[in-house]
Amino acid sequence: MNDFAGLVAVVTGGASGIGAATAALLAERGARVAVVDRELGEAAGTSSSTSSTSSTSVSGSWFAVQADVTDDESVRAAIARIDEELGGIDVLVNNAGIGAIGTVEDNDDAEWLRVFDVNVFGIVRVTRAALPHLRRSAHAAIVNTCSIVATAGLPQRALYSATKGAVLSLTLAMAADHAREGIRVNCVNPGTADTPWVGRLLNLSPDPARERAALEARQPLGRLVSPHEVAYAIASLASPLSGATTGTSLAVDGGVAGL
Ligand code: NAD
Repeated sequence: MNDFAGLVAVVTGGASGIGAATAALLAERGARVAVVDRELGEAAGTSSSTSSTSSTSVSGSWFAVQADVTDDESVRAAIARIDEELGGIDVLVNNAGIGAIGTVEDNDDAEWLRVFDVNVFGIVRVTRAALPHLRRSAHAAIVNTCSIVATAGLPQRALYSATKGAVLSLTLAMAADHAREGIRVNCVNPGTADTPWVGRLLNLSPDPARERAALEARQPLGRLVSPHEVAYAIASLASPLSGATTGTSLAVDGGVAGL
């Protein structure tokens, strides 16, 4: 399928996990992709200290820009650079995010502000910078990476869940605000996806293999979600073929929410 041909897509947190899978899939489907990440790593094909660089994948091409979504100046510079290099922005995938473990007693105010700064205000900053460009697109779409925790009460996730609850509300509000401008806004709600982040969490356990098996056993489908499955859902919502879909959230959670 070549449904993103002629379109420019920006993926934040695109150097790892769900973001990297999304960047690769959008490029495969014809988009010119810009990856924005605070640590470019392999996305740049060069060292992560490079401030901006371009790189070519096997199936398409992408442009990688180092920026931190908590830093408004670096976000604005990255978006301006992408517009300059790729000529506009049609699709924005607000995917950069960090986790937090614990109850309301376990994280102090500074930690609450730090995680909200990335997961919520990061989306606000990148969207604000990208909106003038999206308004010029005939196929403008924003997809936010939310989480199943936005609507499911899971233990030890108070702070993280609160940020994702905010992402869900923000998605609905943004969809309402920008519908008449022709900008669609949706989000995906992944369950536990097999990304480097989850690998890091499992490695905190004394027996990561056993912890992984227990985690898989708790999923209705008996396995974790793959980052590619989340990428496919993001691409479906961002595609011009979904031109009437806005203000929705799509669960990609192996059945956790529905079963
Ligand atoms: P990941 O750690 O593999 O990738 C996250 C990427 O975001 C990294 O490349 C990181 O460098 C980047 N990033 C983090 N903070 C940033 C910042 N301040 N500025 C710019 N880039 C930044 O994680 P992942 O599992 O692929 O998660 C991606 C998104 O999916 C997150 O929003 C996360 O909340 C969400 N999510 C993940 C899961 C899961 O189980 N993995 C489940 C639900 C939702």
